[in-house]
Amino acid sequence: MNLILIGAPGSGKGTQSRLLIDKYNFVQLSTGDVLRAAISAKSDVGMTAKCYMDQGKLVPDDVMIALVEDYMSKQSGKSVIFDGFPRTVAQAESLDSMLKKNAARIDHIVYFKINPQILVKRLTGRRTCSQCGEIYHVETKPSSKGHLCEKCGGSLTQRADDKEEVIGERLAQFEKNTGPTIEFYRGQKRLVEVDSMQEPEVVFKQIEKVLDLAN
Ligand code: AMP
Repeated sequence: MNLILIGAPGSGKGTQSRLLIDKYNFVQLSTGDVLRAAISAKSDVGMTAKCYMDQGKLVPDDVMIALVEDYMSKQSGKSVIFDGFPRTVAQAESLDSMLKKNAARIDHIVYFKINPQILVKRLTGRRTCSQCGEIYHVETKPSSKGHLCEKCGGSLTQRADDKEEVIGERLAQFEKNTGPTIEFYRGQKRLVEVDSMQEPEVVFKQIEKVLDLAN
């Protein structure tokens, strides 16, 4: 079963991906994580992506599509959660044709509906473990170990693009590019919505219901 989690930055896609992986047999393709790893590795893709990411802009479609094609060519046949891809209609169309070639498909597209006003607070307070990727929030989900991860002891860091100066542009890009992508899927009657303003456990239950995984 392949899933797309689509929603604004800070709407909880990463948190829900982790919950799904912990309980079910999914692998996650977070294109944002792949790009951040490419930047750390100082690869060509990383260096190209960094200029866009630092400004809150989208990385060009051709770069993103090549990156996902490469990932899919090495895929082990496990169920994939697409987190943060597609973000444009061109990416959505490419993903469909990519999967079709491999006789695969997207089974569910889950839209994380959220009031934009609460996103800035979510994003500025977000902290991520540099080792295991666990996600915290300084107010709503602080680590009991201060600046260290409760799970693995790794240090918690703030993403460079979770600063207020960049967040406005990321949300504008979401409206401009991902809004039409959501409408593209809605028009094809492939979209299901969850209320991602609820607590993570409640959102998770909604997702399990959508995926028909709830007991
Ligand atoms: P994320 O971790 O999903 O919030 O992504 C962080 C940043 O990576 C975004 O603001 C974009 O600059 C870039 N990015 C991630 N996924 C994509 C995508 N599918 N298309 C274009 N840019 C992307």
